[in-house]
Amino acid sequence: MDSHIKYIEEIAKQALKKAPNDELPVPVEEIVKSLGLEVVAFPFHQKISGLLKKEEGIIAINKNHHPIRQRFTTAHELGHFLLGHGMEEMNDSGVSIYEDEIVDESFDKPDLREREANIFASALLMPADRVKNVVKKEGLEIDKLAALFGVSRQAMTIRLLSLKLI
Ligand SMILES: [Zn+2]
Repeated sequence: MDSHIKYIEEIAKQALKKAPNDELPVPVEEIVKSLGLEVVAFPFHQKISGLLKKEEGIIAINKNHHPIRQRFTTAHELGHFLLGHGMEEMNDSGVSIYEDEIVDESFDKPDLREREANIFASALLMPADRVKNVVKKEGLEIDKLAALFGVSRQAMTIRLLSLKLI
């Protein structure tokens, strides 16, 4: 694993320590709250997944999207926050809003920060050691794993690939 990805995995591991328990799916909203941020659901346009209002510590997610998708977006926005993204977007009044269009879970997005936020979300929602343990015990049934970790089939597949389990 390259050192940059390792660094992001480490940040996710630290965030995971804020979880009140180690139940699956990872309680992403509680982690976000215990880091002092607020999650609000908002009826955005369909193509907006969510946004981060950094100074106010608010993560807004699209309430019309599927709950599984909302989980990934929440983790993705937390990634932007913890990885220090968004200061560049500051407007004249000093408010930095980081708005995300479709968050599609892939690791090959052209924008580095989007890629990093996805790597973070993936590591937070599907912690490496836990994925490995579950695969060892239950085998490689992607639909079952996706349901257990509360992620999409696509996100689960990408994680399994990046952990070289498939
Ligand atoms: Zn993003």
